[in-house]
Amino acid sequence: MAKKAVVVLSGGLDSTTCMGIAKDQGYELYPITFSYGQRHDREIEQAKKVAAYFQVKQHRIVDIGFFKQIGGSALTDASVSVPQDGLGQDIPVTYVPARNMIFLSLASAYAEVLGAEAIFTGVSSVDYSGYPDCRPEFIDSMNQTINLATKAGVTDHRLSIQTPLIHLSKSETIKLGTKLGVPYHLTTSCYNGGDKACGVCDSCRLRIKGFKEAGLVDPIPYQVDIDWNA
Ligand code: ZN
Repeated sequence: MAKKAVVVLSGGLDSTTCMGIAKDQGYELYPITFSYGQRHDREIEQAKKVAAYFQVKQHRIVDIGFFKQIGGSALTDASVSVPQDGLGQDIPVTYVPARNMIFLSLASAYAEVLGAEAIFTGVSSVDYSGYPDCRPEFIDSMNQTINLATKAGVTDHRLSIQTPLIHLSKSETIKLGTKLGVPYHLTTSCYNGGDKACGVCDSCRLRIKGFKEAGLVDPIPYQVDIDWNA
């Protein structure tokens, strides 16, 4: 029987790279996508396209409207504007309260039911170092917690959280993914979620910088002209 991995898939660049890495490691892919009141549905639409590209057996889309109810983040609260100069801040306003802890909890429940041995998540401690739930300390702790809290963990079927990008910069991630044939043309990163990426929000800027540093051209369309050789 094939080994299985649950992949937390947002439709973004990092999580889609994780799909490619898990596949390359011989896992059967079970992506899980969270609808948590993001400003736009584009992430979910792109996640569906990525899942279809990888021809997965099942793509779970989980609705967590609660994040929208409580707000507290520029990503889930329309009254907080998305930043264009937030990089380098301690904790950006795009931080979503306890998001990764909740996502990984739900992913572990799913992994247990599937009999999966791994949960892949595309967190990186390099570029968005302001997010506390992207730090290796958190992932180590969550790994322990998941194995203490699940039947899988206390029997012989331990689960492990895999974070292959945690020490990679955006450009290193893009280089690795490109080598693995990751379909970056299907991914979305823009906080504004238009048909074309805005090119100016923090997320776009980080993505553009990553492609430039990797010496590659981003295949998605932008509203603004970008000189990929600059
Ligand atoms: Zn943008």
